[in-house]
Amino acid sequence: MQADGEFDLISRYFKRPAPERMLGVGDDCALMPLSQGCELAVSTDMLVEGRHFLPDVDPQALGHKALAVNLSDLAAMGARPLACTLALSLPAVDHAWLAAFADGFHTLARESHCPLVGGDTTRGDAVVLSITVLGEVRRSHALRRDAARVGDDVWVSGTLGAADLALRLALGQLPPDPERLRATRPALDRPMPRLKLGRYLAGVAHAAIDVSDGLLQDFDHILQASHCGAELWLDALPAHPALAGLDESLRREAMLSGGDAYELCFTARPLWREQIEALGRQLNVPVTRVGTLVRGQGARVLDGAGQAVSVTRRGFDHFSAPCGDIA
Ligand code: ADP
Ligand code: MG
Repeated sequence: MQADGEFDLISRYFKRPAPERMLGVGDDCALMPLSQGCELAVSTDMLVEGRHFLPDVDPQALGHKALAVNLSDLAAMGARPLACTLALSLPAVDHAWLAAFADGFHTLARESHCPLVGGDTTRGDAVVLSITVLGEVRRSHALRRDAARVGDDVWVSGTLGAADLALRLALGQLPPDPERLRATRPALDRPMPRLKLGRYLAGVAHAAIDVSDGLLQDFDHILQASHCGAELWLDALPAHPALAGLDESLRREAMLSGGDAYELCFTARPLWREQIEALGRQLNVPVTRVGTLVRGQGARVLDGAGQAVSVTRRGFDHFSAPCGDIA
């Protein structure tokens, strides 16, 4: 990218005043202080045009979502956001697109107290975004995937299935249903990372993960890292209201295997039940107990009669999915 163009773009769309005590865009590195007794939490997520979003995506929604999916990782670790960086490749300079993208990005950054403090900008064949979020969490309070224990309750925040349903409707994989698409589209386009919930759970819950690729697939990372198994209760899963009346197997798959939910799945000792429920009420975030951790391996999904349910589509995997799939 031409030097002039590049610096002009950066100062126009990305440079914002840095918060007090931070050094933001414009130097070789950004600088920020860490609170005493905290450790740094770092996470990076990439979004590639044609794979994670369609070329005709609303750029404002993309700016929001690109940051949201990264903040969701901080939430799942129990970390408080400090700042973020953005590496961006663009095939061409489209000012209307950039302005809308930057607006979606900075709006969520402001709401989440996660200012953009640096990055890189280059020309490339497709729009590719790589965002790194930096956060802090009290030492030994992080919600690690290897910290779950047999006997823990399994919890899920919010509701499940809406983003998956919206994606499948938008891609034409299901018969057109404008009403359901309208009801579920916001979940796909504008997920809200569960930052407050994650922070309050740090020090209470044992392990957590955010549901990005599908509940069963993501939860299995906790089970593997913690060397335990689980029973999940199908009837307890919090379905998004727009799933009502849907074919039962579609409903089940959307909840168990649908990606892009950005809800937290976490485990905690049963003695914390009341506090976790109170926390959910206080934050106005539904929290639902959906299972229990047992000895063994893998998750068994049980129906109302206690019978194991078989699930075919377990979740999204970029390397086993056929090319061109969007997730
Ligand atoms: P360097 O040559 O040190 O890599 P650059 O010229 O790439 O620096 O960037 C200049 C400044 O602008 C740096 O502070 C960098 O972090 C910031 N920056 C570049 N691209 C972006 C972006 N997309 N968003 C935010 N800050 C950016
Ligand atoms: Mg650079």
